[in-house]
Amino acid sequence: MKNLIPLQDNVKLAYRSSFSSKQEPYLSFLNAHLAHVEQAIDAYHAAAPLLLNLQPQMMSDTDRVNFQSIYSSKTKEFRSYLALLRTSQPTNFQKDICQYCGINLNRSIDHFFPKETYPMFSGVISNLIPCCKDCNQLKGLKTYSNGQRSFINLYHDTYLNIPFLICNVHFIPTLNINFTLDLAGLPQPAQLIVSNHFRELNLLQTYNSAIGTFFESTARECRGYDNASLRDSITRKINSLESVQGTNCFQVALLKALLQNINHFHGFINQ
Ligand SMILES: [Zn+2]
Repeated sequence: MKNLIPLQDNVKLAYRSSFSSKQEPYLSFLNAHLAHVEQAIDAYHAAAPLLLNLQPQMMSDTDRVNFQSIYSSKTKEFRSYLALLRTSQPTNFQKDICQYCGINLNRSIDHFFPKETYPMFSGVISNLIPCCKDCNQLKGLKTYSNGQRSFINLYHDTYLNIPFLICNVHFIPTLNINFTLDLAGLPQPAQLIVSNHFRELNLLQTYNSAIGTFFESTARECRGYDNASLRDSITRKINSLESVQGTNCFQVALLKALLQNINHFHGFINQ
């Protein structure tokens, strides 16, 4: 899980250009409501990074469909902005992988504030985040819970380099691997947001299910090493993976736990 770089273009300019080649009746509607949307964009950006208390945008079904038309019927210009959201990221891990979960390909676009309840943000690039279909579906219409945001915002939340994903490994009596959160190192409201995010996206369960394959391949690669070589190898793996995928990557959390239990791990793979 790593932050994404937001597009540097002027967001209002991008919005205008996204619908400039649209057909009628949408073009007239969107032009007539441009000032209103620009005010909403200003309110959105003024509320960052906390992004609290943005009220749902109540409107008629017809108006909602008209605003959503930027997304539901995309112009060439709008498609190019969506592509840029991915391609302008600094690493392939951020270009290709969903940073909400850090596992699946990011082949869908999340509206951070949902297009159903915040229709004016349907075509606003600063509200759009590449993610996987699973995370997008689980996120749904949720926005706030427990008085805070329900989800980490990958453009604004700056605490993702603080370790909070913990892997617990036990070799006795049998191998047991599971993930927990340790939120004590995070400032508030990040503790609540991360807790909400992991609960809503079912991430601990996902990591518990996914880690077996990675553990087995790591064990296979390290079989036959003496204790010192094993320690060096795991340390190198942590450094290379952490630099690409971030501190709160579930494989990094496992490798750190193996390093802390190096004698047990050495005994386990060479038994
Ligand atoms: Zn995902």
